[in-house]
Amino acid sequence: MPYQQNIGLVIVAAGRGERAGLEDGPKQYRRLGHSTVMAETLKCFGSLIAPENTFIVIHQDDQELFETATKDVDVQKMHLVTGGQTRQESVRAGLNAMAAATQALTHVMIHDAARPFVSEHLLFEILETAGAYPTQGILPTIAISETLKTVDNEMVTGTASRDNMHRAQTPQTFPLNAIVDAHNKAASESERGFTDDAAIFEWMGLPVRIIQGEVANIKLTYRQDFPEDQAMQKLPDIRTGNGYDVHRFRQGDAVTLCGVDIPFDKALDGHSDADVGLHALTDALLATCGAGDIGDHFPPSDPQWQDKPSHIFLAHAAQLVADKGGIIKNVDITLVAEAPKIAPHRLAMRQRLSQLLAIELDRCSVKATTNEKMGFVGRQEGIMALATASVAYGEIDD
Ligand code: MG
Repeated sequence: MPYQQNIGLVIVAAGRGERAGLEDGPKQYRRLGHSTVMAETLKCFGSLIAPENTFIVIHQDDQELFETATKDVDVQKMHLVTGGQTRQESVRAGLNAMAAATQALTHVMIHDAARPFVSEHLLFEILETAGAYPTQGILPTIAISETLKTVDNEMVTGTASRDNMHRAQTPQTFPLNAIVDAHNKAASESERGFTDDAAIFEWMGLPVRIIQGEVANIKLTYRQDFPEDQAMQKLPDIRTGNGYDVHRFRQGDAVTLCGVDIPFDKALDGHSDADVGLHALTDALLATCGAGDIGDHFPPSDPQWQDKPSHIFLAHAAQLVADKGGIIKNVDITLVAEAPKIAPHRLAMRQRLSQLLAIELDRCSVKATTNEKMGFVGRQEGIMALATASVAYGEIDD
């Protein structure tokens, strides 16, 4: 998309952002994912507005903040303008700088730096509408769906009608000369109470047309508006652990796999019942909370675990996870063996896991494969198991 050579852009970024939490500095310079609010806002316009037609109004103290926040954006050709005491004064400074710098612009988009989520689609819609109605202001709005209350001193004094009530967004777009004149007239007549530019255009008696805004085009105002903070609050702490185990065959007449006894012409050798599936899963669960491995909790040298069923180990790991606030989301075991055949026992194994861990059957998976006759498993010297567990932590308070 080529630059819209007749359109200028004023980014209003001189506010102090007190409501977003002062200790983090003005919100327009705050981190947003791997970027910053300012950088993301500028990128929204990057393919539409030429850098030399972009005027950024910043607070006189914020030069360094601006440079840090935009180090990944090519701002060299953009104009930095010092803002005033109010948003209105800051926009006026930006507009007059623009009018003084170039004659080539017919229209200006005025946008809050703290709205980094405006879509290219909305920008196109605005420009298209401005092209169709070149003497009008173009204002994206969202119809209000909540009930509106008037309040005084923490008490409701009335319910206002929300009919025809809209919330104004930015960018607001105007014919450049008309909005410059409007701002200068308002300033000369000491009309200082305007909170957006459409209001000044209206005050001049000039027409402002609305188009449908975007819900996502929010103005980051409060600390909780920042998606990162929301993500911190809402993203569950999901952790994944894996486990691996192998046991050698010995003489015998049955193996225990995933808690299910399967008649076979061999047994598995180990200090407990040598259930490789449950051993691997025990390790996987311990791994989700940094609790070491099965050997740390049940040393093979300790005779008390001789011939014990391995569900004891699994129950211990599951209890450790629960004590740390973990909720097991799913477990998955892969058994690697040439024989015995696992498939006839898979459902019983899953049911056993579901019972031992007290989670639904569809959160318990058991899979099996041969090793294509390769290696120690292929030579039928033993059975191998791999396990994965996913556990959500920190949900215990809910
Ligand atoms: Mg083992």
